[in-house]
Amino acid sequence: GGILDRLRVGRGGFKLDNPVVHAVNGVSFSIAQGEIMALVGESGCGKSTVAKSIARIYKPTGGEVRIDGEDIAQYGFADMLPIRSRMQMIFQDPYASLNPRQRVRDIVAEPLLEQRKEARDRGAVRDEIAALLARVGLNAEHAGRYPHQFSGGQRQRIGIARALSVRPDLIVADEPVSALDVSIQAQILNLMKDLRDEFGLAYLFISHDLSVVHHIADSVGVMYLGFIVEKAPRDVLFARPRHPYTRALLSAAPSIKPKRDKEEITLSGEVPSALALPSGCCFRTRCPFAWDRCAAERPALQDIGDGQAVACHLIDEPERDTA
Ligand code: SF4
Ligand code: MG
Repeated sequence: GGILDRLRVGRGGFKLDNPVVHAVNGVSFSIAQGEIMALVGESGCGKSTVAKSIARIYKPTGGEVRIDGEDIAQYGFADMLPIRSRMQMIFQDPYASLNPRQRVRDIVAEPLLEQRKEARDRGAVRDEIAALLARVGLNAEHAGRYPHQFSGGQRQRIGIARALSVRPDLIVADEPVSALDVSIQAQILNLMKDLRDEFGLAYLFISHDLSVVHHIADSVGVMYLGFIVEKAPRDVLFARPRHPYTRALLSAAPSIKPKRDKEEITLSGEVPSALALPSGCCFRTRCPFAWDRCAAERPALQDIGDGQAVACHLIDEPERDTA
């Protein structure tokens, strides 16, 4: 495949027409070739919106989505065809995303045939599909079967083979393991990592599960109400989370190796409606540190070194950070 130097999203965020899907605000990040970038947050935080806007399942009404400097945010269907060979998507529920009436060989071949419309050697395609199935841990015999004949984990392998068929630079993966048993999750995550290493793939990996993110991501963006409130390399984020929301999520994630001085920040209250955003900091209605500045002024995402950026007034006024 080609080279995805930089995927860049944002500059002021992007907005969607559909009011059911809330606007994503000021979300800006880039993904380098070979990088696994995770977006993590509770349901409704906008992470799936970001994924679907990048994969152009939603067409944003504003903002930009750049691939190698080319803004695809407003591309029409025909413009998107060549982009599909560079960017594929895998979904949370592989069963719902696979056509139940198609055999696996046709499911996997579909993106490939869409890309190469010219007459093709059917034998060559069949060999290619067999190789893809083998690469994701299935076998040639599986090619003639239908999705309902597979387990959840096998279906996700089929979805991965399908995405891989066009040798994309980027795979956008929206909660790809959250419907699977924990034992199967690790197998799929390891497969995705192996494929990254082998093909230099980049992933945008969407998850609500910090232990999954810890397992797979190189870098992490934490989202709340349509904002990225903190982003950092994985190891920095898990060792030194700075935003109160990130710290609360980590307090609630017992499966991640506890730090010696692990603090407890418990979240109270509900996530406010995205249609009625709090003034100032979007997190202030649930933040144990909030003070008057937090209602008056929206904190900007500021770089604090080591690739970490945080949107919180505590960065300027650390004396208030007393948990
Ligand atoms: Fe909490 Fe204020 Fe920081 Fe927002 S800006 S996370 S309300 S301390
Ligand atoms: Mg979602």
